[in-house]
Amino acid sequence: MNKSRDFLRTIVEEDLKSGRYKEVVTRFPPEPNGFPHIGHAKSIAINFGIANDFHGHCTLRMDDTDPTKEDTVYVKALKDAVKWLGFEWEGDVRYTSDYFHKLYDYAIELIKIGRAYVDSLDEEKMREYRGTVTEPGIRSKFANRTIEENLDLFERMKNGEFKDGEHVLRAKIDMSAANMKMRDPLLYRIRDTHHFRAGDEWSIYPMYDFAHCLSDYIEGVTHSICTLEFENNRDIYNWVLETLKLKPPRPYQYEFARLNISYTVMSKRKLLELVESGVVNGWDDPRLPTIAGYKRRGYTPESILNFCNQIGIAKANSMVDVAQLEFCIRDDLNKKVPRVMCVLNPLKVTIENYEGSEELDAPYYPDDVPKEGSRKLSFSNEIYIDREDFNENPPKGYFRLTPKQSVRLKHAYIITCKEVIKDENGNIVEIKAIYHKNSKSGSDSSGIKVKSAIQWVDTKSAKKAEIRVYDRLFKNETPQGTEDINPNSLKVIKNAMIENAVITQKPDVRFQFEREGYFYADPIDYSDKLPVFNKIVGLKESWGKKKKVSKPRVQTKKVQIEGVVAPMNEAEQKLFDRYTTKLNLNSEVANILARDKTLSSFYEDALSHNKTPVTIANIVANEVAKELKEKQVDELKFNPSEIAELAKMIDDEMISSKIAKEVFQEMTQNGGNPTQIVETKGLMQISDPSKISPIIDEIIAKNPDNVAKFRAGNSKLLGFFVGQVLKKTNGKANPKVANRLVIEKLKQ
Ligand code: ATP
Ligand code: MG
Repeated sequence: MNKSRDFLRTIVEEDLKSGRYKEVVTRFPPEPNGFPHIGHAKSIAINFGIANDFHGHCTLRMDDTDPTKEDTVYVKALKDAVKWLGFEWEGDVRYTSDYFHKLYDYAIELIKIGRAYVDSLDEEKMREYRGTVTEPGIRSKFANRTIEENLDLFERMKNGEFKDGEHVLRAKIDMSAANMKMRDPLLYRIRDTHHFRAGDEWSIYPMYDFAHCLSDYIEGVTHSICTLEFENNRDIYNWVLETLKLKPPRPYQYEFARLNISYTVMSKRKLLELVESGVVNGWDDPRLPTIAGYKRRGYTPESILNFCNQIGIAKANSMVDVAQLEFCIRDDLNKKVPRVMCVLNPLKVTIENYEGSEELDAPYYPDDVPKEGSRKLSFSNEIYIDREDFNENPPKGYFRLTPKQSVRLKHAYIITCKEVIKDENGNIVEIKAIYHKNSKSGSDSSGIKVKSAIQWVDTKSAKKAEIRVYDRLFKNETPQGTEDINPNSLKVIKNAMIENAVITQKPDVRFQFEREGYFYADPIDYSDKLPVFNKIVGLKESWGKKKKVSKPRVQTKKVQIEGVVAPMNEAEQKLFDRYTTKLNLNSEVANILARDKTLSSFYEDALSHNKTPVTIANIVANEVAKELKEKQVDELKFNPSEIAELAKMIDDEMISSKIAKEVFQEMTQNGGNPTQIVETKGLMQISDPSKISPIIDEIIAKNPDNVAKFRAGNSKLLGFFVGQVLKKTNGKANPKVANRLVIEKLKQ
């Protein structure tokens, strides 16, 4: 059980305490259009985890509303993943398609109360009418259809009388809503396609925004937890449930940050491309971040859950270092699996002074692992060591076998090289050595100093094995596509030699091959005849070191927190919560401030001067943060109170945020009080209509063509006119006023 209280568990706990719900019900609602990946594992861990922690339940629902992409193979993969991670869903697996009749009835209901209509605009017009973030949309003339007409058309859509795209059902909400998603969103579309479960019964399929909230309601879900990209869909979610006046209790939607991992692509679409193009060998290829891939590679469910737990639940998107996941599996296996020996690249060593054979007792676990057990290792005068463990011309710091340097055979004796045998091409084919009789591991009285112990196997009892050595599939931290594929992500070693104890009849076994890493008997290809092992992970982080010398990567996204994103500590979490709930900061800004002590105390200090929390936060998280990357606080030429003053000027519309940047620039370079800078430089925003009006008249006079186009309905040109006003005033005109005046004047 996850004892720490993330923001979701805090909400659930309060809802149960206040009696809003008797029982918490969550759901995991994947679309069966691909194999689940580790991002889904995070969502599974959250939804099932919360249900378990609070003694509620979690349903598993296939969100199967797009018949063109879905398949039962994926349904099975999703069920397998949930089970493998150790969770149980409540009752049978649910399907949105099971609710198609109910959803249809709800749609009829919306039509009957005049809140939904059949629209027949073509796709292009519909897009055009939607407007933009800065301009309201225009409602379709079809929105005026009568209820009877709508009911008739909708029924005929359902009966398959129309072609795809001819009509859609839309909610009647608000074509000028600031949230674009609320501009009469689509509820149903025509898809004349066979559905893998519903068959050919339906010619219309509900859209996510309509189906999801109602499916949640039908299942009695209380907390509908999804990823941040659905933040803007929350309004529709609520609108549908409220407009239909559904009996409480009803579900509410909460968003968390989706998981991104470095060196990994995560969307099902991109994974499908890798599978279909043959870059990898199927959905369970051990290089993929799919649950099936991790499972086949040998990851344990515990390690993945542990990882999900460690990264925590945040409200800001970020990138988690893949090394953290690798750490989790290493950490888990270190405590669990036996150590054995495997020689990946065998080189024969003949021990000239050894006769006969013997069995050596070799423990499976090192002293610091609280597990016990041992096996017998056979030893004779012919063994294999790894080619890498012998070097004729060793570089400095080489601690293994050389012509001059002895080495210990792990669990056995110290050997010394006597002769190097080569073939006609000069390749080393054999080493002749001697062993030191009284140097046996555990009872060494030889006094010989060696610097390392290497793995080996006895040629007489060792068995050939195939080892698949996996590395990261991508060579870039933020891979874009197949051009970033790591060409060495899979190396198949055909002639490795394993010791007897590794040969296993049991499925699902993992070993540490001494000095090589952790390995898993491939669940599909392993056979007695040819044991096949997958490398799960190496013994230590090998990419981290390389990373330091490589060039700094180009940041592709604006807000990306580099490296490992640790969960916030308690104090940071508290700040974060206060910033997002009390001060209304968006989660990205809050995240930046809360995680950085210097920034948060700068922010708090500025806040004490005047209360414009959002504007100050934006300046601190962006501008001030940039300065503090190179400087200490006491090296700054400005102080928190001046930043507060700058923010106030923006909020009071004395200056635009563009001018504010200029002022800030001056403050960082030469210092000074922002009000004074604005005055001396004459940067004060011009909001007086009588000053802006003549400028607009001039622009109108100079651009008759654009004026005509605007008046003919090309409303995009509004931006052009306002832009001209700003240009003419060196950015000083108040854009809001300019906007209003331009519209007024051009309407005449
Ligand atoms: P993808 O983009 O990879 O196809 P999706 O979001 O379309 O993913 P769904 O099958 O619709 O996948 O998702 C099922 C659930 O898993 C959703 O609640 C979704 O928010 C969640 N989920 C998907 N990807 C991630 C991720 N990377 N991190 C956390 N949760 C995720
Ligand atoms: Mg999707």
